[in-house]
Amino acid sequence: MTTVEVTVPTSPGEAAELFGDGVAVTVVGGGTIVVPLVTHGQLHPVHALMLHASGLDELVDGDTLTVGATVTLARLAEIAPEPLATAARIPDLEIRGQGTVGGNLHTGGDLQPALIALGACVRSVGAGGERIEPVEDFLAGSEPRLVLAVELERPLAGVYLEQRRTHSRTYAVLSVAVARRDDGVHVAVGGFAERAHAVACPSVERALAGGATARDAAAAVLEDVVPEDDPLASAWYRRRVLPVLVARALEQLEESR
Ligand SMILES: Cc1cc2nc3c(=O)[nH]c(=O)nc-3n(C[C@H](O)[C@H](O)[C@H](O)COP(=O)(O)OP(=O)(O)OC[C@H]3O[C@@H](n4cnc5c(N)ncnc54)[C@H](O)[C@@H]3O)c2cc1C
Repeated sequence: MTTVEVTVPTSPGEAAELFGDGVAVTVVGGGTIVVPLVTHGQLHPVHALMLHASGLDELVDGDTLTVGATVTLARLAEIAPEPLATAARIPDLEIRGQGTVGGNLHTGGDLQPALIALGACVRSVGAGGERIEPVEDFLAGSEPRLVLAVELERPLAGVYLEQRRTHSRTYAVLSVAVARRDDGVHVAVGGFAERAHAVACPSVERALAGGATARDAAAAVLEDVVPEDDPLASAWYRRRVLPVLVARALEQLEESR
């Protein structure tokens, strides 16, 4: 039988120290993904770093909204601006109440496009120490990092839409987040390919800035992403639905003026 080292840090500093360079560390946030994997013998942690008492659940609502890594999706849904609040309101109530922001970012969850559209940054620690970077840069990284918090400015307006199968216990087939910020409209999409993280849509944003209608600008989303087949939906379906979803989100953003 293998032994598992279980550590329970009681401060963010201690969590960072125990995480170190993250090699051979399994971080446990809300555990909604990790715990079933361990239970079913699909994950064998060497060092489980439990975050529940780490104090990483801070929420600071000033000029910048700072959301600690262990803030639950349910709590986030209550305080976040759109499009993040709707993204956090995932249909499965048990997962919403237990799943955390840090775990969601790490697992391709529905928060990703909303955070990108908001221009949010991730504060994390790992090899090389603490750093803060845009969500997209963080998601593109490959070395282990402990998420400490996400930071964002409240936008002027935002809309989050998703296409989902009726059963609540699945991920969104496609998700779209749009946010009007001081420097214009920002668009991000997720769910278009099983292994891809959410991305910004610069082609759509450029078309909008150039005066295109919502529908014409939305068509440019297929220049920004290549939809793929996965068990939830086909690439064919995604190519047809994604521009419609983006156009609807942009129209709703326009109506919110
Ligand atoms: C039935 C079911 C339905 C679901 N529905 C949805 C849905 O509709 N939308 C959606 O977005 N997600 C959904 N999920 C996925 C998931 O549960 C959530 O995204 C949740 O937010 C994950 O957070 P957690 O804290 O429970 O993650 P955990 O299980 O604790 O961890 C998940 C991963 O993230 C890592 N991790 C956790 N916290 C940190 C941190 N602070 N820093 C670095 N790494 C970390 C862990 O090591 C692990 O690799 C669903 C899951 C289930 C089981």
